[in-house]
Amino acid sequence: MAKHEDIIACRRCDTCGVRTDVKSDDEEVCVLQCSICMQEYPFYKSPMEERIMRADNPKDRSNPEYDTIIIGGGPAGLSAGIYAMRAAMKTVLIEKGAPGGQMAINKGVENYPGFIDINGFDLSDKFLDHAKAYGLEILREEAVAIEPGTQFHSVRLANGETLDSHTVILSPGGVSRTLGVPGEIENLGRGVSYCATCDGFFFGGKPVAVVGGGDTAIEEAIYLSKISSEVHLIHRRDRFSAGRILQQRLAMEPKITVEMNTFVTSIVSNGNGVDSIVTRDAEGVERRLHVEGIFIFIGFAPNRKLVPAGVEMNRNGYVITDEKCESAIPGIFAIGDLRQKYANQIVVAASDGCIAALAAARKVELKKSGLNEPY
Ligand SMILES: Cc1cc2nc3c(=O)[nH]c(=O)nc-3n(C[C@H](O)[C@H](O)[C@H](O)COP(=O)(O)OP(=O)(O)OC[C@H]3O[C@@H](n4cnc5c(N)ncnc54)[C@H](O)[C@@H]3O)c2cc1C
Repeated sequence: MAKHEDIIACRRCDTCGVRTDVKSDDEEVCVLQCSICMQEYPFYKSPMEERIMRADNPKDRSNPEYDTIIIGGGPAGLSAGIYAMRAAMKTVLIEKGAPGGQMAINKGVENYPGFIDINGFDLSDKFLDHAKAYGLEILREEAVAIEPGTQFHSVRLANGETLDSHTVILSPGGVSRTLGVPGEIENLGRGVSYCATCDGFFFGGKPVAVVGGGDTAIEEAIYLSKISSEVHLIHRRDRFSAGRILQQRLAMEPKITVEMNTFVTSIVSNGNGVDSIVTRDAEGVERRLHVEGIFIFIGFAPNRKLVPAGVEMNRNGYVITDEKCESAIPGIFAIGDLRQKYANQIVVAASDGCIAALAAARKVELKKSGLNEPY
């Protein structure tokens, strides 16, 4: 009987049909036992299963360096993990918090294909289960620095350990800047939003406020004006920093009321969600505005702390990559919300993860076979 020390893979048992971990004491052993019905059966290794077993064996430390290290376990990193494991790369994903990233805090995701409406936490679990099914090693740690090298790139961890890898996939995401006013965090997902594409749909025919004066704020105010009954665009300065063409488009929108030199001082809930906001103008006059949603666009900061010198970034701190998501340093990839692109969405982050992992796998394969990089 097998000793069940190592989980070989998470799969459906051939006998009981239940999805479970199948275990064996030795990767050469061809008898496995289902941990649910305890039925033993022979395990005929398909080429894919053989590759998964090799990549998944955590005791295989003969080559201490990894093929790829993924930093960040949001949708971008977890998707990269799935593709890296399927490509039989020796992979570790480093996540400092709970896997899922920003996706996990979203109460309702309605635009991820295949799911009409799913709680972001549940979708995170599905991503995680999928990655674990291929045996992805997940290390609960914070990466604190990346040191690019000629042979290997090194990743330093907060616990003092250093890991070497042929490639590094950076997926640390980013954070929306907050107003820091009373009622903001308490009503997150209940009227307070940082993403009109994600949440605008919930405010059909309802009054909303948009805060900010840059391109994103104006674009999103125009977008929301097609859905909501009225939009109050609130900006703390006396002029917008958004481009001229956008400002001209804004001036043509009858449903948008612009309030310059105005601050939001608090967000008020009626118990079920946002009911109004309190604003203060330059003269100090306070006003209460009835809105059911407030969309805050005062900046989004990609987590660029780990981006090493030599990687090109735009003026907002997003990493510039080629179409393979590879940065200016060969073998260092940037994906998801860290990468400069048109939209920050879960589906785009997952797509980036796929591209980067496939490109990294090809790079490692060529490097190990002594061939020159053809691209
Ligand atoms: C409130 C809200 C609602 C949203 N709604 C939607 C929606 O409905 N639909 C949609 O498509 N998109 C939505 N988005 C956007 C979407 O969530 C993001 O585009 C997506 O999560 C980005 O994925 P990512 O993997 O690049 O980064 P993230 O999701 O930000 O994940 C990054 C991960 O990296 C980890 N990390 C960071 N630094 C380190 C480090 N040094 N070491 C180890 N780990 C690290 C973080 O802990 C985090 O788990 C929403 C965003 C927010 C904030």
